[in-house]
Amino acid sequence: MPGNAPQTLADAIDALLPQTQCTRCGYAGCRPYAEALANGDTALNRCPPGGATTIDALAALLARPALPLDPACGVETEPRVARIDEERCIGCARCLPPCPVDAIVGAQRQMHTVLDSLCTGCELCIAPCPVDCITLVPRPVATIAPAADANRERHAAHVARAQRRRDDRAARIAARKQALHA
Ligand code: SF4
Ligand code: SF4
Ligand code: SF4
Repeated sequence: MPGNAPQTLADAIDALLPQTQCTRCGYAGCRPYAEALANGDTALNRCPPGGATTIDALAALLARPALPLDPACGVETEPRVARIDEERCIGCARCLPPCPVDAIVGAQRQMHTVLDSLCTGCELCIAPCPVDCITLVPRPVATIAPAADANRERHAAHVARAQRRRDDRAARIAARKQALHA
């Protein structure tokens, strides 16, 4: 929640969500799902990463009955992290932009790796990999999963950085167009 602004219902709901930003609820991230819930537009059983614990917390907050997790959204799993098969990684960097919390390190034409301390197991890096070298594995017992608040902050930074890149690119193109007609 920004600054000292009063807490809205969407803020209170968002605070109960795991912030993996996995989109399995059918929304673009946790905040859009929180807003839809606050508006009464969706069901409270659509968050597989949060599972039964999150459903119970949402039911208590919203004074609605708890429901079993909607299987159309996925299933509740043990905590997991992504693993990159370093032998097969071609360094294309296509997995970097989709990671909502910037948990993958690497650059073009270099082998990439996942930071367990940041990975939420959201799966969003898997489909974009052209050589299918990313899998999910159970979170190693010696590692600690990132907290929801940290996920939220890292996601906000990720979104802001992506927007800056788009703005910079648009400004460069506009400047080039202007130079052509100068
Ligand atoms: S963590 Fe839950 S609320 Fe957030 S995007 Fe995933 S399914 Fe939706
Ligand atoms: S590395 Fe993959 S699974 Fe882990 S947070 Fe990033 S996109 Fe999600
Ligand atoms: S998308 Fe796959 S091949 Fe490309 S850098 Fe990521 S892990 Fe490596």
